[in-house]
Amino acid sequence: MKLPNAPEFLHPRNPTTSVRIGRVSIGSAHPVAVQSMTATKTQDIEATVAQVRQLEAAGADIVRIAVDSAKDAEALSLIRERTQANLSVDLQENYRLASAVAPHVDKIRYNPGHLYHHEKKKAVRDKVAFIVEAAARHDCAIRVGVNCGSVDPDKAGLFGADSIAPMVESALEHCAMLDELGFARYVVSLKDSDPNKVIEANKRFASQRPDVPLHLGVTEAGLPPDGIIKTRIAFEQLLAAGIGDTVRVSLTVPNDRKQEEIAAGRQILEDVSNGRFRSVPRFDNDRLNIISCPSCSRVENEAFVDLAIKVKEMTAYAQRHAITIAVMGCRVNGPGETDDADLGLWCAPNHVNLKKGADSLGAYSYSEILVRLKEELDALVATQGAGKLP
Ligand code: SF4
Repeated sequence: MKLPNAPEFLHPRNPTTSVRIGRVSIGSAHPVAVQSMTATKTQDIEATVAQVRQLEAAGADIVRIAVDSAKDAEALSLIRERTQANLSVDLQENYRLASAVAPHVDKIRYNPGHLYHHEKKKAVRDKVAFIVEAAARHDCAIRVGVNCGSVDPDKAGLFGADSIAPMVESALEHCAMLDELGFARYVVSLKDSDPNKVIEANKRFASQRPDVPLHLGVTEAGLPPDGIIKTRIAFEQLLAAGIGDTVRVSLTVPNDRKQEEIAAGRQILEDVSNGRFRSVPRFDNDRLNIISCPSCSRVENEAFVDLAIKVKEMTAYAQRHAITIAVMGCRVNGPGETDDADLGLWCAPNHVNLKKGADSLGAYSYSEILVRLKEELDALVATQGAGKLP
C-alpha cells in the first residue's frame, strides 16, 4: 500500500529507486508491497502451488519459495507453469542454483553470510557476479538479504559489541558490488529477531543509502499475537520515518494459516497510513522472549509449529525473567540463529537439538525435549532469583 493519505507528520518516504519484480514494482514511486513465503516442501508441487494461490488470494504482491537443490529447482519450473504470481526464490548456501532458478522466478534473494560455505577459495565478488549474470539474463531482480544470525563472517567481530554494524557494513559492501557490476535492480533487507535492532539497522543503512529500496522484516518474530506486535513495533517506527518499500510479517503458524502474514502486513500499512500507531512502548527485553522462525519448505519436521506452541505454553511460568528462547525449524538457520539465545532449539527430522547459548546440550526426541528444556529453564530462573517484574 502506498502511503498517499499519510498524515503530514509522517516523514516523506526515502527517494528509493524503482525495482520491478515481475508485474509489481517497489520503491518510493510505488505502494509498499506485501509479501510472504511458502512453508510447504518445494518438491510437493500441488501443496506449494496451493499455498502460492492462498497467499495471492490474501493479497500477496510477491511470494517467496525456498530452493536448496537441483530437484527443488526442477519443481520450481513446474510450479511456475501453474501460477502467474510474482515469485521470489530464496537461495542459501548453494548460490550456483541461481542459473537454474532464474528462468522461473522474478527475484532472487541471496544471503551474503551464506556465500562462504561452498567453493571457499572463490572470491565472494565472483559468486555475486554469477548471481547477477543469471538475474540479468532472465529479467530478475535481486534481494541482498542480510540476517543477524548468519552475518558475513568477515564482518562479524570487527565492531566489538555493536551487533548491528556488521549487518549494515555487509549490506553496504554488497550494494557497492552490485553497483560496480552494473546491476541496479536490487533491494536490501536487514533482519533481526529484536525489533529495536531492526529499526536501528534499517535506519543506519537508509542514512547511507537512501536510494536503495528496503524490504522490512523481523525475523523469527514467533507466534501471533506476539510476533505481530514485535513486527508492528519495527514497521511503525520505520514506515513513519519514510523507510520501507516492501514488508514481510514472519509468523509461526500452520500452513493453512499462512495468509495471516499478509493480513497482518496490510493491517499495519493501513494503520500507519491513517496515522493509527499502536506501538508507543519500546519492545523490552526484560521479560521472557520466545522467538521462532515462520517455517518454510526447509522445515525438518511438521511437528515444528506444534513444538513452538508448546514451548510458549510450557515456559509461561518464566514470564518475569529476562530469558530468550529460540525455536528454529531446520539446520540451515537453526544452528547459527540460536547462538544468541539463552536456550535454543533447532529441529532435525527425528530429534531436536538443544543449546545453551552457542553450546550444544545434545539431541532429544520430540517427546523428550520439553522436559529437558524445562530443566534448563528452571536452572536459569534459579540463577536470576525471583524475577524482576512486579
Ligand atoms: Fe525455514 Fe529453517 Fe529459516 Fe525456519 S529456520 S524459516 S525452517 S530456513
